[in-house]
Amino acid sequence: MFDTLQDRLSTVFKGLRSKGRLTEADIDATMREIRIALLEADVNLGVVKEFVASVKAGALDSEVSKALNPSQQIIKIVNDELVSILGGEARTIRFAKRPPTVIMLAGLQGAGKTTLAGKLGKWLRDNKHAPLLVAADLQRPNAVNQLQIVGERAGVHVFAPEPGNGVGDPVDVARRAIAHAEAKLYDVVIVDTAGRLGVDQELMRQAANIKAAVEPDETLFVVDAMIGQDAVNTAKAFDEGVGVDGVVLTKLDGDARGGAALSIARVLGKPIMFASNGEGLSDFDMFHPDRMASRILG
Ligand code: GDP
Repeated sequence: MFDTLQDRLSTVFKGLRSKGRLTEADIDATMREIRIALLEADVNLGVVKEFVASVKAGALDSEVSKALNPSQQIIKIVNDELVSILGGEARTIRFAKRPPTVIMLAGLQGAGKTTLAGKLGKWLRDNKHAPLLVAADLQRPNAVNQLQIVGERAGVHVFAPEPGNGVGDPVDVARRAIAHAEAKLYDVVIVDTAGRLGVDQELMRQAANIKAAVEPDETLFVVDAMIGQDAVNTAKAFDEGVGVDGVVLTKLDGDARGGAALSIARVLGKPIMFASNGEGLSDFDMFHPDRMASRILG
């Protein structure tokens, strides 16, 4: 996903390393190249400006210019700033003091919510939890069935409305699922909600209603990292309409430029908590800003 950015930055750093002491002109030229690299990778313009200003301030610090190896120092400043843009510390689920912990998944259709429900369920199971998946996406005819298949693959139970009842009420399903989890001692409930192809009022209302009914401990916005700047705009719309606690990036295995996804944490002021990088149940992990920065900087 971040190949172009990696290539561009490694060229910038190679140029830097070939110099001994750095003049202010060298630093300016480097900042210009970093700016272009980030913009070409589709990083949000506001985030790029902030990033470059912050790295430049660090690079002009007298300690850096006096250092024996100023290029190394600048690379470290770029690394630290990238970690900060990506959210700083890794953050995982905040489990409720009194189970069950309720996690609601929201996002556009095709973002990867259903797949994520399975991945998160498996991840929780691997971490000694007893998760329950809830099929509250009653919009798409096949969505309940799809979640059941994912649950079976992940070895995680699925709470679904009884078939043949027509289109049910997702708020009612979600409420009954929580009661079921309490009775059967599931300690984490993952509520999969409906998505639309684009943001619309009806989608937001339904998600907000489910949220009000189940009072989730975490509302995770699931977003396809391949959709570019729309990822940032959609994230903002969901945060305003529903309220989001954290972000899950999916399809990081794709070949898009990916910079927009990297801007989400900073623009939203919410952490990226998990990342998905494939269709398999194990292609999933917590998101670690420091590891991602190292990967991008090579
Ligand atoms: P939903 O509509 O948000 O529930 O999205 P789905 O979970 O149905 O996913 C939509 C498509 O994206 C499916 O074909 C998934 O297999 C695929 N998908 C989900 N996550 C990933 C991922 O991380 N990488 C790739 N390559 N495909 C994914």
